[in-house]
Amino acid sequence: MSRLDGKVALITGGASGIGEAAARLFLENGARVVIADVQDNLAHQLIASFTDSGKICYCRCDVRDEKQVEDAVSHTVAKYGSLDILFSNAGIMGPMTTLLDMDLDAFDNTMAVNVRGVAATIKHAARAMVAGGIRGSIICTASVAASIGGAGPHAYTTSKHAMVGLMRTACNELGAHGIRVNCISPFGVATPLSCAAYNLEAGQVEANCSATGNLKGVVLKAKHVAEAALFLASDESVYVSGQNLGVDGGFTVVSHIATP
Ligand code: NAD
Repeated sequence: MSRLDGKVALITGGASGIGEAAARLFLENGARVVIADVQDNLAHQLIASFTDSGKICYCRCDVRDEKQVEDAVSHTVAKYGSLDILFSNAGIMGPMTTLLDMDLDAFDNTMAVNVRGVAATIKHAARAMVAGGIRGSIICTASVAASIGGAGPHAYTTSKHAMVGLMRTACNELGAHGIRVNCISPFGVATPLSCAAYNLEAGQVEANCSATGNLKGVVLKAKHVAEAALFLASDESVYVSGQNLGVDGGFTVVSHIATP
């Protein structure tokens, strides 16, 4: 288990859900990890749960604030000497209302976290990678809602579509520096984000996702998404860039009209 031996990762939204699962998996695979989040208590509890806490630390960072993002990147480089992997994963579901009732301030906030925040993390992580001559890997968490309409609320869907564009344009510029940029796009996973958005217990979220998902017989877990991030973070994907990797059991590429 050393697919990330010697590498340093910054994970936004790393205190919970998919980011937490990635922090655990990256650590198990030899990386040193900085978690950037806004949930201080949760993050401190997570750090305390590791026996080898010298290899993981927390840095408070609201990704909407560029200075905090810049500081999180600087903190990572100062603490562990490098930045090889950015997992830009922090996100919110935003308003769940109909378009007719849309609150545009809530729309702006969703874009500020899910798009501006990701842009800020890519900018500052890429600066550190270029300055350090590091052929790094940048991974952003998009969603099935990045590919189709109707798989999430309006602001969320807009933001995740935009994220894929951001990933592609970043891939175009950063390829010259040997930096890879990709997205992962999960189907529904039971995390605090999805449970709160739909006001359901984890088991109910999983039952609903299993019922509507394409691939039967597997319940998608945060760890499965983290495993896709691990692949894109590691040298196993050394020539993979500009891709939006679905972790969706085929949901976005099949017709949902029943066929005989
Ligand atoms: P989660 O709520 O468990 O984790 C998200 C984390 O992001 C939280 O720890 C939260 O504190 C943090 N965060 C929110 N706003 C932030 C900010 N402004 N600055 C820094 N951190 C902030 O949810 P999750 O499901 O693990 O979500 C992770 C990513 O996965 C999100 O981008 C989400 O859109 C995406 N996603 C989730 C699902 C799902 O069904 N859970 C499906 C597809 C994509």
